Amino acid sequence: MTHDNFNRRLMIAGVLWWTLATLSLAWNIHQAKVHRQELAVQTARSLFEQIRIMRRWSARHGGVYVPVTADTQPNPYLRVPNRDLHISDTLTLTLINPAFMTRQLSEIAQERRGIQFHITSLLPLRPDNRPTDWEEAALRQFKRGVSEQGEFITTAGQQIYRYMAPLLTEKACLRCHAEQGYHEGDIRGGISVTLPQVPDYPLVALVVSHLAIALAGTLLIVVMGQMLATSYRELRQQAEIDPLTAIPNRRFFNEHLRSALRRRQPLALILCDIDHFKAYNDQFGHPAGDQCLRLVAQTLHNNLQRRGDFCARYGGEEFVLVLPNTRLEGARALAEKLRLAVLALRLDHPKSVSNLVSMSFGITSMDSADATTDALIQHADLALYRAKDLGRNRVEVWCD
Ligand code: GH3
Ligand code: MG
Ligand code: MG
Repeated sequence: MTHDNFNRRLMIAGVLWWTLATLSLAWNIHQAKVHRQELAVQTARSLFEQIRIMRRWSARHGGVYVPVTADTQPNPYLRVPNRDLHISDTLTLTLINPAFMTRQLSEIAQERRGIQFHITSLLPLRPDNRPTDWEEAALRQFKRGVSEQGEFITTAGQQIYRYMAPLLTEKACLRCHAEQGYHEGDIRGGISVTLPQVPDYPLVALVVSHLAIALAGTLLIVVMGQMLATSYRELRQQAEIDPLTAIPNRRFFNEHLRSALRRRQPLALILCDIDHFKAYNDQFGHPAGDQCLRLVAQTLHNNLQRRGDFCARYGGEEFVLVLPNTRLEGARALAEKLRLAVLALRLDHPKSVSNLVSMSFGITSMDSADATTDALIQHADLALYRAKDLGRNRVEVWCD
């Protein structure tokens, strides 16, 4: 995997992570909105139900009598016998029917500036009970079979929730409302409930928490990515670099040659081998032999001329060079230069041909169309054999 590939995968992981975080944020916001809506509906419904229970209690008693006061005057729209009962000079009782009771309760609620409710009808007995536009629309919906209506609206910069459900005519209601032509089960009107200051869903908290999670995840991806990249680089180095000479190993060479051939360029290949190296080891010992290998490897590597030129340890005391876009003459010139550079190290080797550490070189060159890995190596190897046969410390070119 190349560095670019690795970065691309890291980018994909990052994008996926942010997509997940965004989806989670969208889902959580949606859930918070749904939850807020349900909370508002449930609250409004239970308030409506409470009022209905109170009204039913009142209706079943045929209304309740309360003392007439400055605030509670007899209801002029209540046309029933015995509406007012004169008890004494200081006490007169008047009948409070469910509608009057609801209105009084709603006035008390209004004073407290909290939850509001409003009893209304399309045919109100009391003109002040006529519906607002929204209530009228809701009442018409109820006639079409809709069971309740509710919505959030913003007034004076504040979100409120308004809810409305119908009031059905019950037997007890007919005492006052029969003359309006209502029958049991008819929708006679409705009560709207307004919830002020419904807590907003926690948008900022959700965004901040998701942002924090997304950033923490990104940091983790970057840090883990760096650690992986470092381990990968180390592993790759261990797999491709020869530990003794610190130049590419045979495995790296094989890969390199294959990809060089895929590029379809003319190629030259040089195989080179230290002369009488066994004798060198025998005379100076293996540690000195290792040091000699290191020096030779660095000399070959440092004398490469062009950017695309490649040098690897082929095995033992043998090295290989791949020279793209190079013909035989160019390769021969480079090999000659390398041969002299190794001699110039002036490493004593009394049992070798020139009393110094020297190398033999075999060269081949092919057009990309004919070139194969095996053919290149085989030809260079044959040329190297000939260099050895012809006395070592020399450069030989493969020819048919
Ligand atoms: P020639 O000129 O024909 O190549 O003779 P040579 O002695 O160099 O060839 P031979 O194949 O007989 O011996 C190669 C020697 O290289 C034998 C082996 O001990 C030595 N050698 C191979 N790898 C290493 C290494 O990593 N370190 C050391 N010190 N010696 C090595
Ligand atoms: Mg040798
Ligand atoms: Mg050898």
